[in-house]
Amino acid sequence: MKLDLNIEPTHNWLPNNNPIIISGPCSVESEEQVLQTAQEVSKSGKISILRGGIWKPRTRPNSFEGVGEEGLSWLKSAGQSVGLPVATEVANVEHVEACLKKDIDILWIGARTTVNPFSVQEIADALKGVDIPVFVKNPITPDINLWVGALERINAVGINKLAALHRGFASFDKSSYRNAPMWEIPIELKLMCPQIPMFCDPSHIAGDKELIPHVAQKAMDLDMEGLMIESHINPSVAKSDAKQQLTPLDLDALLNNLIIREKHSESEEFINKLEQLRSVIDELDEELINKFSSRMSIIQKIGEYKQENNVTILQLERWEQILKNRSFLADKVGLSDDFIKKMLELVHQESIRVQTQVMNR
Ligand code: PEP
Ligand code: MN
Repeated sequence: MKLDLNIEPTHNWLPNNNPIIISGPCSVESEEQVLQTAQEVSKSGKISILRGGIWKPRTRPNSFEGVGEEGLSWLKSAGQSVGLPVATEVANVEHVEACLKKDIDILWIGARTTVNPFSVQEIADALKGVDIPVFVKNPITPDINLWVGALERINAVGINKLAALHRGFASFDKSSYRNAPMWEIPIELKLMCPQIPMFCDPSHIAGDKELIPHVAQKAMDLDMEGLMIESHINPSVAKSDAKQQLTPLDLDALLNNLIIREKHSESEEFINKLEQLRSVIDELDEELINKFSSRMSIIQKIGEYKQENNVTILQLERWEQILKNRSFLADKVGLSDDFIKKMLELVHQESIRVQTQVMNR
């Protein structure tokens, strides 16, 4: 599915940096805190946009909920003092109106808002006829359609300075990350709407300052346009997300260590080599498809055989034996256990589908 969005193809509203870095505190806490943070993070010359949360959507009540409207002027003047445009999160129509009144340059919609089409529509309606860039974070739940829907709603009121911002997804699986990156989802969004610039927020994915550089590098390797990284003048006393905020110095080190790879290489040698390797991949994929097809014809025969003999489709011991044996084989040739199990699971599901069809003929 390709999306029909009306987006400026040149993105000339975006700063002309590669990558584009958005940084600043999770929350604006005081006039001095946001000013000092702005002055420190901007020293490197690598920051293009100053961020700061004014209204904080907290999972539990009685946590710091942001300084509210008065913080907008602190954020704006901190940005002006270092010559940077400023961005903040809006979650309802009052937030939008307050930001427009205070000349906030860029708005973003947070993960807890993108999940709710009513809220997104309310924000969209408040933005009708306004020319302001909007970043849309992915919804908390791994549902790409909610993300796409939010982009469509904002675009439909005439906002064409639009970007997507990947901040990971809530997940029941235990992991070292605060939010599972599920990189396949932003990649799918990029395929669906290549005209929308994709940013990554490694701070909210990682949840811990130690893990941020790795996530940031991965986002760069996946050719994302830029990064939003939280930075606080003194993270240990931050009123929100203390564990994941970097000092301006640590932010600078992270940015200096990022490896930015070329999108393409013009070198003839590189192109020839890549062509060769790709043609081998094409052949191998063709072989794989033919093998899968042969496997499925045997599965079909087994299905017919089971039907003639009135035996159930699922034979648990056989399946366990397959898993064990294939894991062993995969390990011997250096394939990951997780990969081979996921692949077998898919093949098994398809085999059951084919045999069910045979049985019910
Ligand atoms: C934030 O950027 O501080 C924030 C609350 O982010 P998210 O909506 O991604 O949780
Ligand atoms: Mn935060």
